[in-house]
Amino acid sequence: MKIAILALQGAFAEHEQMLRLLGVETTLIREHWEDVSGLIIPGGESTAMMRIMKDEGLFEPLRQAILDGLPVLGTCAGLIMLDRNHLNVMDITARRNAYGRQLGSFNTEADFEGIGRVPMTFIRAPYIEKAGPEVEILARIDGKSVAARQRNMLVTAFHPELTNDTRIHKLFLSMVARQNTCSEVAQLHV
Ligand code: GLN
Repeated sequence: MKIAILALQGAFAEHEQMLRLLGVETTLIREHWEDVSGLIIPGGESTAMMRIMKDEGLFEPLRQAILDGLPVLGTCAGLIMLDRNHLNVMDITARRNAYGRQLGSFNTEADFEGIGRVPMTFIRAPYIEKAGPEVEILARIDGKSVAARQRNMLVTAFHPELTNDTRIHKLFLSMVARQNTCSEVAQLHV
């Protein structure tokens, strides 16, 4: 299993470290799309990330891979990148910098569906303002949706890679493992 981390800008090194801790092979994607088992889009600045992604010709291959079922984890700006106004692969609309100036960055703890209490670090974070019927909301803060899943896509408005808690990454890796087993089974039937 090899996981690609989009490394155009932002907090990609922390995801790399987290996956290394979990014994998973990673590759940093900057210019060329690679054949991988899963993808992480990190936090950073979505406007800049979007521009560089287009400049590098990564927008279309990446979008197609996700539409074809590649498991993807988007954190913070990564959540924004997957929404209807950016890559337009996930049926959500993100509200950027959604917590105002004073509450721009904060740490908290909240329930995450299927996991339990999870520490959450927010840095000028978005929340999910609108979500289609296929989207399962996994966590809320003050009634605002901050984590969700739709098929092969998992997003968090917070930064799981900035805490010591590996459970969100493990959840993502279980999605990757399931997807790979499915394609192996599919190949057997060819
Ligand atoms: N504020 C950033 C944006 O709108 C996201 C911040 C982050 O990823 N930590 O893209």
